[in-house]
Amino acid sequence: MKIVGLQKTTLIDYPGEVACTIFLFGCNFRCGFCHNPELVVKDFGGGFSEENILKFLKERKGKLDAVCISGGEPLMSLDIDFVRKIRKLGYKIKIDTNGSFPERLKKLINEDLVDAVAMDIKASKKKYSEVVGAKVDGEKIEKSIKMISNLDDYEFRTTIVERFHDSSEMKALGQWMNKVCGKKPKKFFLQGFKAGGKLIDDSFSKEKDVSEKYLLELKKSVDEFFEEVGVRV
Ligand code: SF4
Repeated sequence: MKIVGLQKTTLIDYPGEVACTIFLFGCNFRCGFCHNPELVVKDFGGGFSEENILKFLKERKGKLDAVCISGGEPLMSLDIDFVRKIRKLGYKIKIDTNGSFPERLKKLINEDLVDAVAMDIKASKKKYSEVVGAKVDGEKIEKSIKMISNLDDYEFRTTIVERFHDSSEMKALGQWMNKVCGKKPKKFFLQGFKAGGKLIDDSFSKEKDVSEKYLLELKKSVDEFFEEVGVRV
């Protein structure tokens, strides 16, 4: 496990909580539109020791309520003992995941080491590998979806990129998730892709930013498949 980033305070990453976010290096996907190439493909060295993070968390007790563990894909390398230590300090814990490591997520859930999960749903089942730029084990993604949909606090979300996501694609995504969960999952967000910054695949820099209008249009295609659907521009 390599900790490459720490956001000391965030009110966004864990809705309703004052949190910090820890970023772990590495991801098994290669989404061309990924805004964090330095967390995925290129390790610039440096980083934080576990010891220093735990020291920071000890000092922030009472000021912070929760810790988000993000990446990259944090479950690819997350040291469960580190999570146990965070829990011992009394923090709530949220995991951001791409759903590739259901067994590791299950272990965290079984040990009561996770309070909330956000999972990226990249596309419909058929398009998954194309969108993430890597070979995907669909069974693992489905296991994660199902497991997460049975938690109290979770969200699913899709970064909408116009070249991949149109109404029929989103409808297929919604139908698939419904089938996997055997019910309407609680919360789903459509997040608009923004072209700025360094991306894994430069060709996505030429895409236009996704407008609220486009997100609201797609929302209509998935409303029936989730209890609540939101848009984030
Ligand atoms: S956007 Fe894709 S490549 Fe980037 S961290 Fe998330 S899953 Fe990995």
